Amino acid sequence: MQGNYITNFLKSEDIIWEDIIENDNRIELHIKMKQKPHICPRCGATTSKIH
Ligand SMILES: [Zn+2]
Repeated sequence: MQGNYITNFLKSEDIIWEDIIENDNRIELHIKMKQKPHICPRCGATTSKIH
């Protein structure tokens, strides 16, 4: 189950891949989470932060 979760996480469109660095005995994955912009229900502005 844990493996499936990680696979789904890595396939998520909310992930931005920045870099993959392969070393001799390890792989560095550099990823960034996308902030999903949404419409604020209160003022109608598009925002990625709660205010
Ligand atoms: Zn607002």
